[in-house]
Amino acid sequence: RAKTEGGGRVVFFETTMGDAVKERFKLEGELRTAIAEGQLKLYLQPQVDSDGIQVGAESLVRWQHPERGLIMPGVFIPLAEATDLIVALDRWMLGSVCRILAELDGEGRSIRLSVNISPRHFERSDFVGEIKRQLMLSGADPTHLVLEVTEGLMIGNLEDVVAKMTILSTMGIHFSMDDFGTGYSSLAYLKRLPIHEIKIDKSFIQDAPTDPNDAALVETILAVAQHLSLQVVAEGVETQAQSDFLKARGRVIYQGYLYGKPEPAESWLQRLRDQ
Ligand code: C2E
Ligand code: MG
Ligand code: MG
Ligand code: MG
Repeated sequence: RAKTEGGGRVVFFETTMGDAVKERFKLEGELRTAIAEGQLKLYLQPQVDSDGIQVGAESLVRWQHPERGLIMPGVFIPLAEATDLIVALDRWMLGSVCRILAELDGEGRSIRLSVNISPRHFERSDFVGEIKRQLMLSGADPTHLVLEVTEGLMIGNLEDVVAKMTILSTMGIHFSMDDFGTGYSSLAYLKRLPIHEIKIDKSFIQDAPTDPNDAALVETILAVAQHLSLQVVAEGVETQAQSDFLKARGRVIYQGYLYGKPEPAESWLQRLRDQ
């Protein structure tokens, strides 16, 4: 239980702390170590066009825990997002992705890699400088870098969001609106921001072939995207029926288990080079 003292100071009593809270603190401490000691792993998941050509990949983090095994981001990203740990995590991912991009650029491959950016990271005053620094350090081509942001950004300072995105997109970086339709989406925001792409959330793709409501939603998103000249990525495409549904309705980039699961960066690179 937490008790607030006169000065607003919060005191925690270790003995009355619930097990879940204790577990959370433990994991948070371990995550700090994990980032410092290289326990984070970069996974990549292919994104393919309607001809089945891989045009890009999304970077997804995994935590190779020494005792607990491989931990999925759903478990530790929310924890990291509650603290500044997310900034260190996002930076590590960004640096790793930029290095791979530079390697691929050097091999003459034109493939784009996307990185998830947490609002807490984006909102920092040094965000633009950080991206520039990572690009300079690695020598990666900015036009091959995609930054995935979420609708959660829009509840912050919109002027600041527009300003940062404008600087970065002038450098050639592309922005993608992740999990589109699940948050505070507003068509007005879409128009104001220099966004190049929207990602239709997998919850809409799932039942689109069978549920008329989801079908209508996906069709509406595709129409809006076409109207605003935005590229569309469909997330979580698992079945041929879902793929066929999309193919019949527009120009879409596909990401999902049907085309490839997230895999360690090393084996993803190997597969790409073997092709
Ligand atoms: P997201 O950015 O929306 O990523 C897509 C999620 O859908 C990934 O889950 C991916 O593995 C999963 N997915 C892809 N295709 C399919 C499919 O066909 N079926 C199903 N059922 N799932 C599919 P994952 O890797 O567990 O990541 C979950 C979330 O964690 C991500 O959602 C993203 O919001 C966050 N995340 C992951 N890596 C990072 C990171 O480096 N930084 C930040 N800030 N967030 C990250
Ligand atoms: Mg994403
Ligand atoms: Mg998503
Ligand atoms: Mg997400």
